Amino acid sequence: MKSTEKTHPTRVFSYCPRCGSPDFPAVSERSFKCGGCGFHFFINAAAAVAALIFDENGRLLVTRRGIEPDKGKTDLPGGFIDPGETAEEALCRELKEELGVDVKEMHYLASAANNYLFSGLSVFTTDLAFRVVPISLEGMSPSDDISSYEWVNPAEVDPEEIPAPSIRHFIKEIAVHERE
Ligand SMILES: [Zn+2]
Repeated sequence: MKSTEKTHPTRVFSYCPRCGSPDFPAVSERSFKCGGCGFHFFINAAAAVAALIFDENGRLLVTRRGIEPDKGKTDLPGGFIDPGETAEEALCRELKEELGVDVKEMHYLASAANNYLFSGLSVFTTDLAFRVVPISLEGMSPSDDISSYEWVNPAEVDPEEIPAPSIRHFIKEIAVHERE
């Protein structure tokens, strides 16, 4: 993601969030410095989690996005980590919200960078993938920001149907090896 792209924060933010001054130039690819109050504002990556859940036949659970951006495309269960929350807590919360699933076991696998277009702004994320074993797969029902889910062979998923580069990496590189 280059700062010349129109959704990059250095092209979207015009005013100091502390004092409201319009004298708020980007001083690098990743920061602004306010000419009014001196506030130095940094653009950091937000942390997010994604779950790899397999059934007894080694098929991977993927979801369909129910909201924009990329409504109808392939995703993994998960979402942003709230301030003050651990990655593990966020994963348990998101799986409960999105699928009604309780977590029995989880372990960390890998991370990947992404940028997520939201309200005309590129939000940078670091996505953390966990392998998750739910307490039960019965009674699972999609809700919140997903419209449906399905079980797939990760090797057979069309990469073009996975818009987020981090999720594409988790499904096409990590999940494919995890099920072996
Ligand atoms: Zn200011």
